[in-house]
Amino acid sequence: MTSCAQKILHDVFGYARFRGEQQAIVEQIADGGDALVLMPTGGGKSLCYQIPALLRPGVGIVVSPLIALMQDQVDALRQLGVKAAYLNSSLSADDAREVQSRLLRGELDLLYVAPERLLNAGFLALLERSSLALFAIDEAHCVSQWGHDFRPEYRELTILHERFPAVPRIALTATADAPTRREIIERLSLESARAFVSSFDRPNIRYRVTNKVSALNQLQDFIDKEHANDAGIVYCLSRRRVDETAARLKEFGWDALPYHAGLDAATRAANQSRFLREEGVIMVATVAFGMGIDKPNVRFVAHLDLPKSMEGYYQETGRAGRDGLPADAWMAYGLGDVVSMRQMLMSGEAPEERKRVELQKLDALLGFCESTACRHQTILRYFGEEHPGNCGQCDNCLEPVDTWDATQAAQMALSCVYRTGQRFGVGHLIDVLLGKVTVKIEQFNHQQLSTFGIGRELTQQQWSSVFRQLIAGGYLEADIEAYGGLRLTEAARPVLRSEQAISLRRDAEPAKRKSVRTERAGKSREPFSGADEDRLWLALKACRMALAREQGVPPYVIFHDSTLLEMHDRRPASLAELSRISGVGQGKLARYGDDFLKVIEENF
Ligand code: ADP
Ligand code: ZN
Repeated sequence: MTSCAQKILHDVFGYARFRGEQQAIVEQIADGGDALVLMPTGGGKSLCYQIPALLRPGVGIVVSPLIALMQDQVDALRQLGVKAAYLNSSLSADDAREVQSRLLRGELDLLYVAPERLLNAGFLALLERSSLALFAIDEAHCVSQWGHDFRPEYRELTILHERFPAVPRIALTATADAPTRREIIERLSLESARAFVSSFDRPNIRYRVTNKVSALNQLQDFIDKEHANDAGIVYCLSRRRVDETAARLKEFGWDALPYHAGLDAATRAANQSRFLREEGVIMVATVAFGMGIDKPNVRFVAHLDLPKSMEGYYQETGRAGRDGLPADAWMAYGLGDVVSMRQMLMSGEAPEERKRVELQKLDALLGFCESTACRHQTILRYFGEEHPGNCGQCDNCLEPVDTWDATQAAQMALSCVYRTGQRFGVGHLIDVLLGKVTVKIEQFNHQQLSTFGIGRELTQQQWSSVFRQLIAGGYLEADIEAYGGLRLTEAARPVLRSEQAISLRRDAEPAKRKSVRTERAGKSREPFSGADEDRLWLALKACRMALAREQGVPPYVIFHDSTLLEMHDRRPASLAELSRISGVGQGKLARYGDDFLKVIEENF
């Protein structure tokens, strides 16, 4: 069995070794058992059901909510020589009939189906007349009513177990939290399934949180210096900001497209398709963009606004670097974000209890932003997993942050809030501390206060950092009734009484901050970008693009970047040498081997 699985891995997929728990999972399903697979994005979930489907007699049925992606997945499998098809509402009646008769004739290895199609009585009857290898339930967290991706049909999938008790089932998800996990087991009756839980670490993603000064300029600088030719996603909070940012990036010469719920469906689909099918497109989007974005070579995810929670942050940044090559998660974060996010949550229509939960989630995220500890460690801890820290792949590890004893500054800031009556915003409070005589100061006679001008030792920027951290740390809160005026919380009391010391991070000056670009950990090599691009690399990419265009598939369906990079570095001179490159299986070797060998020879 093991050797058969190994042979398929090598011959069909072109990979030398199983990753992580893949082999154990494949064996569990191939032997007829059930499995629950929790693996991060990019971990390699698909092979876990694709290989058993090829090992066992009959067809593997894959339930997926991602209709838009079925075609790409099926295209990718066909490239490998696997007999795959899909059934969903995008097919014409004739095409659907054709797929169904292939199913009945036993001509398929894998069939992707939308959940509503699967639950259809006629289709279930069809399945009863077919030979079935397995059921794979992809994106299994869609059963969870609490998640963003809830699909009611997913809750009815227990019918598979009832009607086909002998067919093994495998449920897969990249959602890490324990409540969702429990819900999947319960809702899909997977109590007796073996659970395979991988580490949720994404070691190839380098996390960075920068102090927001002028977000758009900082973003441009980041893309320019580090990702000039790469595909990436920029997340913004509002539709307006998406439009503005996309327009600005375009103005500066990048191929940037907007994506949000305010655009009509056709524009959204067209933009998404360009992002998937072309190289180097930057998608500027609200969180509406994301679920099932399977593009493996997204090289960066940038946040111009705060995400709502750690779950959101992990999921959104997780779309970078699925191919395992180095990728960046970059966020610009500042005082304004803290204030406005809290206000937005507090003023929403949601019931009180829900608001409380959301505020807690936001607090966890703010804690992450302000933390001076390893980012990988902080993220994993949130999901209940240990990590030794010192990853060498995050801003805090690469450039350890200074902290300073801010007890006295915090006391000044808090008492300034108190003395001004707990109803003014940060701008005014800083004016008071710096002793500026403004119209507003005169209007409220604030130059009479004992806190007027006591903070001249710090700059405007530094005070803004103090206030941001005091709000993020829960010592101050924004009062929505008073238009964002700040007031003290219970936590401020011990600080004001000198019973508690406060240590804050010292924000780097953005302009002077040196680039951390060169400090990549040597795990996998950095894809070419900018001036590094050389002739052979460009020629390999051009060859891939031409083949992809010819067939109407995304370039990564032909070969992944990692495979192209290996070709570039090893310069195989024969089909035998080419076949040893990871990602070159027999199907692709036969189809494209000669084309790529020729490119290598000509550009040597
Ligand atoms: P997931 O669905 O978990 O996000 P995928 O199944 O799309 O991940 O796999 C992520 C990437 O890793 C794909 O490019 C896939 O071809 C590659 N991959 C998966 N398993 C292996 C392996 N054993 N060896 C090399 N590459 C692999
Ligand atoms: Zn780190």
